[in-house]
Amino acid sequence: MKIVVLKFGGTSVGTTERIKKVANIIAGYAKKGFKVIVVSSAMSGATNDLIKKSRDISNDFNSSEYDVLVSAGEQISCALISGRLNHIGYKSRSWMSWQIPILTKGEYCSSRISKINKKKIIDYLKSGGIPVITGFQGVNNDSRITTLGRGGSDASAIMCAKFFNAKKCIIFTDVEGVYTTDPNNLKKAKKIKVISYEEMLEMASLGAKVMQPNSIQDARLNRVEIDVKSSFVNKKGTLITKRKNILRNRTITGLTSTKNDAKLTLVGVKDKPGVAASVFRPLSQNQINVDMVVQTSSTQNRETDITFTVKSDELSKTIRLVKQNKKIKYRDLIVNKDVSKISIIGVGMITTPGVTYRMFQTLANKRINILVISTSEIKISVLINKKNIKKALAALHKEFKLNS
Ligand code: ASP
Ligand code: MG
Repeated sequence: MKIVVLKFGGTSVGTTERIKKVANIIAGYAKKGFKVIVVSSAMSGATNDLIKKSRDISNDFNSSEYDVLVSAGEQISCALISGRLNHIGYKSRSWMSWQIPILTKGEYCSSRISKINKKKIIDYLKSGGIPVITGFQGVNNDSRITTLGRGGSDASAIMCAKFFNAKKCIIFTDVEGVYTTDPNNLKKAKKIKVISYEEMLEMASLGAKVMQPNSIQDARLNRVEIDVKSSFVNKKGTLITKRKNILRNRTITGLTSTKNDAKLTLVGVKDKPGVAASVFRPLSQNQINVDMVVQTSSTQNRETDITFTVKSDELSKTIRLVKQNKKIKYRDLIVNKDVSKISIIGVGMITTPGVTYRMFQTLANKRINILVISTSEIKISVLINKKNIKKALAALHKEFKLNS
C-alpha cells in the first residue's frame, strides 16, 4: 500500500471555507492513487478557548479532565473534514484516537505516543476509505484521554507515518516551509529546501514556530521524513531529513531569535567551590529551566558575578526562589527582561573553523553588545539587547551568505 499521511494545522482548517480547500487537497492525493491518512489539528483558536474555559472553572483544573476538554477541538475539525470529503464523493470517516486506539505513555498534558494499533485503519484504507484522525490526543492504560502538549498534532502525524510505514508525511501549515529566519523579522529570509532533523530541532527549540520540538525528536528517532508546506499555495516546501541526505555549501542553515528570555545577574557572590550549585539547586528542584550561564570572577576580593537566563514566564518564580535561598550571599540582584537570544544553526559549523569569530565580529561591527554566550555542536547563541534583534539578524544573515 502506498500510504501518505497528510497533517493539517489549525490555521489550515481555521474556517469552514478553508476546510473545503483542505478536502480538495486530500482528494488530489487520493486521485493520484495514494492511500491517504489525514491527521488534523483543531480549528485555530479552538484549543485556546477550551483552555480559557478550564481556567474560568478552576485555576487548578484536574489534569485528566483538562485533556478530555482541550482535545475536543480536534473532534470538531475531523468531523468537518470527513463531512466535506463525503460531500465531494469520497468515502471517509473521523477517528478519535481512542477508537483506533493511539496509545500513549506519560503524564496528562504531555504524553507521548507509544503505540498505534493498525488493524482498524488498515482495514478501512483497504475498503477505500479516507480516515481522518484526531491529532494531539491519545488514550492511556487507564482508558483515559491524554494529550501530547501544545502543538502535539505534529507528533500524531509523525507517529502515524511511522506505524503505518507511510511513503510520505506532509505537514500542511500556514507558511510555505521553514525559513532561514522568521520572515516577520527579516524580509530577506529564504525558504530552506532541505534541513536535517538536528538543525530543525535546534531551530524549533530556539524560537522557529513551524513545528513542535518533541515531534521533531520523534521524527528523528524513527527516521520519518517530513515535508512542510503551505495549504494555501501549491509550492514546494521544506524537507526535513537525515543529515547524510543533504548536500549543501553553506556553513549556517538558519538563524533564530527569541522574545521570551530574561536575564538575572547575582552580583558579588563568594568565589568558592559549591556556590554555583547552591544557586541553581532550588531552581532545578522547582523545574525551572536555566538556559545560558556565565560566571565572571574578579581576583581582588574573591567575588564573582553569576549571570543566567530563564524563560520570562518563569522569571517571578525564579526571583522568589533566589531571594528565599539562604545558602547564598550576594550584594545585588539585577534583572533584565529586554533581552533576546540570537542563534546561528548549522551542521556545517562542525567542519568549518572560525564561525564563532565571524559571528562575534559581525555583531561587533554593528556595535551590538553581547551579554551572554552559549554554544553546542551545531549552534552558537548570544544574548543581546532586544532593540537590536533586527539589526543583528540582518547582519548575520548577510555574513553567512543566506541572502542569496
Ligand atoms: N490543537 C492543539 C494545540 O493548539 C494541537 C495542535 O495544534 O497541534 O495545541
Ligand atoms: Mg496547531
